[in-house]
This record gives sequence, C-alpha cells and structure tokens, in this order.
Amino acid sequence: MSASIMLFTRDLRVRDNPALAAACRAEHVVPLFVFDDAILNGPFAAPGRVRFLLESLADLRMSLRELGGDLVVRRGDPVAEVARLAGETGAGSLFLADERSAYGARRLGRLRGLDVEVSAQPGITVVPPGELTPAGGDHYRVFTPYWRAWDAARWRPIAKAPRTVGLPPGVEPGTLPRLADLASGSPPPEPAPGGEREGRRRMDRWLSEAASDYDEVHDDLAADRTSRLSPYLKFGCVSPLELAKAGPDGFRRQLAWRDFHHQVAAAFPALARDDYRPRGHRWNEDEDALAAWRDGMTGVPIVDAGMRQLRREGFMHNRARLITASFLTRDLGVDWRHGLRHFNDLLVDGDIADNAGNWQWVAGTGNNTRPGQVMNPLRQASRFDRGGDYVRRYVPELAGVEGARVHRPWTLAASGTRAPAYPPPIIDIG
Ligand SMILES: Cc1cc2nc3c(=O)[nH]c(=O)nc-3n(C[C@H](O)[C@H](O)[C@H](O)COP(=O)(O)OP(=O)(O)OC[C@H]3O[C@@H](n4cnc5c(N)ncnc54)[C@H](O)[C@@H]3O)c2cc1C
Repeated sequence: MSASIMLFTRDLRVRDNPALAAACRAEHVVPLFVFDDAILNGPFAAPGRVRFLLESLADLRMSLRELGGDLVVRRGDPVAEVARLAGETGAGSLFLADERSAYGARRLGRLRGLDVEVSAQPGITVVPPGELTPAGGDHYRVFTPYWRAWDAARWRPIAKAPRTVGLPPGVEPGTLPRLADLASGSPPPEPAPGGEREGRRRMDRWLSEAASDYDEVHDDLAADRTSRLSPYLKFGCVSPLELAKAGPDGFRRQLAWRDFHHQVAAAFPALARDDYRPRGHRWNEDEDALAAWRDGMTGVPIVDAGMRQLRREGFMHNRARLITASFLTRDLGVDWRHGLRHFNDLLVDGDIADNAGNWQWVAGTGNNTRPGQVMNPLRQASRFDRGGDYVRRYVPELAGVEGARVHRPWTLAASGTRAPAYPPPIIDIG
C-alpha cells in the first residue's frame, strides 16, 4: 500500500492543483489542513480572512468527500502534525504548493527535515518566483521587462482534478473550528463568501460577461467592473494559471503584477518591513491624521469613500487603493508601514507580497520607476469617478449632492447650498 500526504496551505481547490494531482497518484492520500498557531497568533489572523478561510475549507471538504475522501483538519505546528500523520498512516511522501514567503520557505525547510519525501509543486502564481531572472540578477526589479518575459514564458499545463481520493483507513478527519475559536473581532459586514465553488462561479461569470471590456473600464471606480477575484486568488480557490489562460490582455498584465510582487518578496523577504529602495524618507508621526484616514474622515471624499469601502466589504477597488495610499504617504507624509498594517487588518485579499509591494510602489520606496510620482486626489476623482457615484455609494453624508460637486463639498456652503454634515479636509489639497 502506498500513501501520501497532501498539505493544503493557500491552494484551497481541487481543480488545477498540481500538488493534489501528484499526491493522488498514491493508492491512499491524506488531504490535510493544519490551523497553524504561528499564523493564528500573528497579525495575519484578521477576522475577515479567517472567515473566508473557514468557508473555503468547508467547501474543499465537501469536494473531497464527493471524491470519496475527506479533509483532515488539525491544529498546531504543521511540521509536527505531518510527522504524526506520516507515523500513523505509513505515508512516505508529502506534497504541497511551493510557497516562497519568508514563512513558507522556513516551513518548507523544516518539512524537508522529516523522514518523508517532500515535493513542492507550482500553483500559487502563474510563473513560480525565481523561474524568470534577468541577465546578471536573481529577480526582476522593474515590471515592464518582467511582463515581457512572463508573457513569452512557457507555462505549465493545467493539472487535472483527481477522480477519486482514497483516505487511508482509521484516520480521524477532525472538525472545522468556528470563527470565534480562531480570531477575535468581527469580519467586515459585506464580505465575499469563500470557497472554490463560489470562486469558479464568479470567475466563469466574469469571463463570459465582463472581461471583454476590462481594458477600458478597469479604472472606473463607480463601474466596479474588475473581477473581484483577489480573495479567491489569495487563498487559491481559483487557479491563477487558468485565469491567465482565459483572461484578456490587460487582465493578464494584472496577474503578472501579482507574480512580479511575489518574486520580489521571495528575493527580498523583508518587503513588509524594510524599504526595498531606501531613499532617506522622514515620515510624520501624526496620530490624528492617521486616525482620520483609517476612519474615512479626512474630508477628502474620494479618499474617505475608499477607506469606507474597505471597512464595509474587506475590499477596495485598485484605483481607490492607489489614491488612499498616495494620500497617506505623499499628502500626509505618514509612513507606508502604518497603511500596510491597516490594509492587512481589513483586506480579505490581504497578502504580504501584494500588499507590501504595492505600498512601497506608491510610497516611492519600492519598484516604481517614477518614485517621485504623486497622485492629486481631486484630479484622480474627476478622472476615475467623473459623476461622483463611487463617493455617493460609500459616503452617505454626501448621497444627496449631485454630480461632480460631491468631490468638493467645502465649496457648497460658499455657493449658498446647504452644506452636508461632513468634515472639512484635514489638509489643503488645492
Ligand atoms: C496600496 C495597495 C495595496 C494592495 N494590497 C493588495 C493585497 O494585499 N492583496 C492583493 O491581492 N492585491 C493588493 N493590491 C493590488 C490590487 O489593488 C488588488 O489585487 C485588486 O484591487 C483586486 O481587485 P480585483 O480582483 O477586482 O482585480 P482585477 O483588476 O480583476 O485583477 C485581477 C487580479 O490581478 C491581481 N492584481 C491586480 N492588480 C494588482 C497589483 N497592483 N498588484 C498585485 N496583484 C494585482 C489580483 O490578484 C487581482 O485579483 C494592492 C494595491 C495597492 C495600491
């Protein structure tokens, strides 16, 4: 009898999962998820993400049961739990997705010290970090040449979903914990539901109904026409490779950005902590400004709308992420690490590489080839929320203000209109 262990981490799907497909070649397989205390006790256990994770695991368990197996759930140290299950079942091999974050690399190193054969498979990104390298460097520091190499690269074939999953006899599957057992605080009130089924439903619908004009509308805040698949990509409920093969050009470029940040983070594991390109920034320690930004009470409607979308949905449109991050770091002069922490507390798609890579890009300490670039929030508002609908959707105090005047509520009093109950801007933005 041959047995293997499939350790799920952030690849919570049965379709196009190369590690699962390889593990299922053994006669018996233990599909395992370990609630890792080291992660649950740290800043990454935000309630919105833990809720999404639990829903995704319930969905994965259902799929594995339909295939004749189950999801085995444990809590503690994944390395100790793998060792225990290998001892109990006689499994000689372990399969998992190759995760290159600092923590993922350490975990993989420890797993390789066990008495099982370890195979780390692709699947978290379209192109694995380190696979593409520029002449004379270990990773790409600039996006455009990376994109060219990425787009021209030969991608792996899509992995087939297993037809059956045979659990070894006598393994106790264990129960899924409740949200309150794992995280404190409440998730955002209007979150996306987790799971591969839901992710694929959204992916199929988006590809057939909305993808074709992505290039024209992806920056239009009120249209809200991007895929909103980021939480499903974060937890691997959908395959980035399947999406890249099916999506339009401009969309593939966004997926390449994701891979780009992942290869930067793999080469520079301190990306969420240290400036990638230190430029001697001196940041303001302004607690009041930071609190106003977090609460969506800066008095700059386009910024406040983004920050309130984040609290309500655990999600923010990419254009609003750019505008709010630029406002915090460039206009208020507050350290990007404060912004990153707040985003990480609330984003369901919150991811070390993508969050840190983008914050550093906006703050001018990262991979931006124009590190001096500043986004004026009013100009951004008139370009990307022309009619003001995005602001009206998220800032109820301004819901009655018509047209683009919603972006400058401080001018209403002067024009004789009754001013809404909304604060004046905390700084002069012109
Ligand atoms: C300050 C800041 C912080 C961010 N933090 C995160 C984060 O923690 N997690 C995260 O997934 N994205 C992050 N992004 C990137 C981007 O805003 C989101 O991926 C995107 O808004 C998700 O919406 P969507 O799925 O509708 O995107 P779509 O436009 O449909 O794009 C498809 C996919 O491409 C990827 N993608 C798109 N843009 C980027 C980008 N700039 N960088 C990396 N991947 C990208 C995402 O996986 C996204 O789901 C951040 C951007 C900024 C400016």
